[in-house]
Parts: sequence; structure tokens; C-alpha cells
Amino acid sequence: MIDSTVFENKLAAYFTLGCKLNFAETSSIGRLLAQQGIRKVRPGEKADICVINTCSVTELADKKCRQAIRRISKQHPGAFVVVTGCYAQLKPEEVAHIEGVDLVLGAEQKLDILQYLSDFKKQEEGTVITSATKDIRKFAPSCSAGDRTRHFLKVQDGCDYFCSYCTIPFARGRSRNGSIAQLTKQARSVAEQGGKEIVLTGVNIGDFGKSTGETFPDLIRALDEVEGIVRYRISSIEPNLITDEAIDFVAASKRFAPHFHIPLQSGSDEVLKLMRRRYDTALFAHKIEKIKQVMPDAFIGVDVIVGTRGETDEWFEKARTFIESLAISQLHVFSYSERPGTQALKIEHAVDPKTKHDRSNILLDISARKLHAFYESQIGKEKTVLFEHTRKEGLMHGFTENYVKVEIPFNSSLGNQTRRVRLNGWNDKRDALTVTILE
Ligand code: SF4
Repeated sequence: MIDSTVFENKLAAYFTLGCKLNFAETSSIGRLLAQQGIRKVRPGEKADICVINTCSVTELADKKCRQAIRRISKQHPGAFVVVTGCYAQLKPEEVAHIEGVDLVLGAEQKLDILQYLSDFKKQEEGTVITSATKDIRKFAPSCSAGDRTRHFLKVQDGCDYFCSYCTIPFARGRSRNGSIAQLTKQARSVAEQGGKEIVLTGVNIGDFGKSTGETFPDLIRALDEVEGIVRYRISSIEPNLITDEAIDFVAASKRFAPHFHIPLQSGSDEVLKLMRRRYDTALFAHKIEKIKQVMPDAFIGVDVIVGTRGETDEWFEKARTFIESLAISQLHVFSYSERPGTQALKIEHAVDPKTKHDRSNILLDISARKLHAFYESQIGKEKTVLFEHTRKEGLMHGFTENYVKVEIPFNSSLGNQTRRVRLNGWNDKRDALTVTILE
């Protein structure tokens, strides 16, 4: 039973670190609190409750979380500080010892936040930790809304893969998902609120269906029928799980954008084995070729990790050559970070920081060249842009269906609107294309 009297006249502040999934979940927590009359703070106001949703993907992410928690506690003196997310799940004791923290909410408990807030009173209790549950099974439906043009719809959570370098399965639990009926209902609700673009998010979304007996192709087929949504993007999907069937469906679909984000992690088969990934470079190359064959203008972003334990000079060079050969649009380059409790720590040969840095720069250079070439290939084409509300230096931005960033002089009537455009050429900063609006 929730005692709602404790929420009267309370203000809350929300902070999210890390991935799109965290943004979606913070939005859901915000909605729960708003239903109890807890208003979100405006700039300059002091909060009574601070909710900090953390990330733990690397050692650096942990450090940023600690800094953020300390900064936020100081900015809102006396506030009830709740820390949740992957860092809170993986290292609850460490989080509890940070000054100012009142409640550490584990992955299984985060959407029960109202119950915890109504039960615990600051000063009377010490820091309360709820992250002890290791068996995380609940699927917490989440969708971010209102704060961006794009809505992030969580379709899946957790992961059963246990790649050797990754702690996410420990932080988020086993693979599970919402049902197609529930997710299409959420998409309809986004459309009713005027939302036009939805990004499907999850930890391993190609694994969708584990807990409901459905499949990812079934999900995208059902979502494609939701009237009012202009476009969907599929966020990161494992190469072995994006089937040729799903690629063909996206190519022919009404609403799914020709935009893919596929983690490669290494372009060396030897390193992929050490990472315990479930594909090899031949399969990855086939997926890229298949996408480009049916959607020649598709934008393909690819995640890569450099400096994984065991990555010799020779294997990195193989990876570099393979990555160069791919018809992809951009790389997201990450430096390997040692994570306690992972199998990767048993691999001999840790790569030194300078070598990691050099390898990262080599791949960032390839990424810049590929992105430039992709944009150049789009100049002169007609595409559909969804413009965003934000105004910056008199300009506004938007993205085409195939994820080309465009820029026009600010026009408030175009925010969250789609327009057919011709892509003209680079802007002054060479980070977006200018356009002519056709209709
Ligand atoms: S697929 Fe691998 S890298 Fe991705 S979340 Fe699962 S274990 Fe981690």
C-alpha cells in the first residue's frame, strides 16, 4: 500500500547516464512519480527527490556515475537521493557508501520506487540497499516521451549471451520482453500523443520473444501497422540475430527506416572467439552485403572494441583490413575496459593503454572517412526529414530516414514535422547537409 500523503508538494529531479534503455526507464519512473503529483523541478529549483539512473558499461562509466551522484547531492541539499541502474545493481555497497545516497534500487525493484519512497523516511533510516536480488526476471515496460522528438520504446531487456568482456547480463538479468500486444498498444499511445518516430530499444533486441513465444519479425510486422507513427528505427541488433527475413521486411516496410546499428566488436575471427561472440566475420560481411543489396542507401553504424585482452598487433591489423572493406557508414569505437567478474580477465596478454589509444585513433579515422563518403553519396537525393524542435545558433536539425543529419534556418512550425527535401551539400561545419524543402 502506497502512502501518497508523503508525496504532497514534492519536487523531483531526474538524471540518466548511459544508454537509450536507461532514458526510456527514467521516463517511466518520472511518469510514476508524476501520477502521484510529484512535479519535475524547473531550472534553479531544489528537488526533494533525486533519481539517478546509472550505467556501468566501463570503468570510466562507473567513475562518471560517482562524480554525478556527488554533484547532484550537493546541488540538491537535503533531497532524498535514489540511485538505480546497472552500477547500482552491480556494485550496491560501493554506491551506498557515496555521501548523500539514501536508497540503492536494484534492477528488479526500480519500477517499485513509489513503494520504497513511501516506506522510507530520510534521517530515520540509513542508506537502504535493494540490489541483492541476482535473479532479475521482471520486464518493466518503458517508453521515453515528451523530452525528445524520438521516443525510445523498450521491447526487450537482459541478455543470455555472456560475451567474455561484458557485465550486462549480471546487471540486467536474463533475456525477457514485452508482448507484441502490449508493445503495439504503447506505440499507438505514442502516436496519439503526436509522436512520430520510435526507436526500438533493448539489450539484445534480436532475442525478442524468449518470454512470450513470439519473434522479432512478428514484432516489426505488427508495429509497421500502427497508424500515425511515421518511422521506426531498430537500435543495436546482434548480427547473428538480424535475419535475412527481417532485412527484406524492413526494405519493403511502410515505416521501418533503412538504418541499422550492428555490433561487430572485432574484425578478427580470433578475437571474436576470445570474446565468445556468436558469429564470424563471414556472417557479418554477408549481413552488410544483404542490407546494401536491398537498401543501397541504408545507413549502417557499427560498434567496435579495441584493445580487448588477447588482441595482438597481427589480429588488430586483420580487423582493420576487414572493417575497411565493409560498406558501412560509421563506427562507434570503444576501448576495452576490464570488468570485474568477467571471463575476459582470464585471457593472457592485456593490451597497454597507448596501443589501445593508437588503435582507437586508427578506427576513428576510418569512421570519419566512411561517414564523409556516405554523406557525399547522398547529395542530390530526395529524402524525408523529421525536424527536431531544438534551436541552436538560429538553426534547426533533423534526420532523413537513412539517418543523414540536415540543417535549415530555424522555423518553429517545422518542429516534429516531416518534409520531403532535396539534399544539397555540406553546411559550414561539415557535420550536416543543407536541404531544399520540396513539399
Ligand atoms: S550480446 Fe554480449 S555484449 Fe551484448 S549485452 Fe549480451 S553479453 Fe553483453
